[in-house]
Amino acid sequence: MKTTKAKNPTREDCKKYELAITNYVLGQALKVPKETLWEHLKTCRACRRDFADWQDTYEVMKTEAYYNTPAGQQKMKESFQALKKRMTPPQSVGVPGRIPIDIRGNIKQTARTLYDLLKTNGETSVPVLVEKTRLKEYYIQQAIGWLGGNEKITLAKDDKTAYVRLLPE
Ligand SMILES: [Zn+2]
Repeated sequence: MKTTKAKNPTREDCKKYELAITNYVLGQALKVPKETLWEHLKTCRACRRDFADWQDTYEVMKTEAYYNTPAGQQKMKESFQALKKRMTPPQSVGVPGRIPIDIRGNIKQTARTLYDLLKTNGETSVPVLVEKTRLKEYYIQQAIGWLGGNEKITLAKDDKTAYVRLLPE
């Protein structure tokens, strides 16, 4: 597995700052240190744009006289639409001939299959899981990662293979 550190912030990072940005613009207390928000804004263009949009929106709201004009209303509408669009992740890449894959759904489904299998059979080695599920080891590994991350299993290995076991509920 590659462990190169991503230079660009991920969507997960951005999620953390969505609330911080609106809180900051509205003058409310932040749930994260202000410095971390600045650091993120320095490296993340998408959030800088959100930040600017929220500021724009707030400026419109602040000046009630402007807000009540058709131009103010229009500006508000546009700002909110722009924000909404960026906060909704794209559903698929939309390249002809490529079928989008529901990664999260697939991993969860495989994880459920493994879970049931482990419940019935107790500790099972990875090759046996591959054999019993008839899935590629790659998918099994993803599901093991998911189950491990959700504290459902433990993993032990000898010099040949890894063994998966359910944690007691
Ligand atoms: Zn961001």
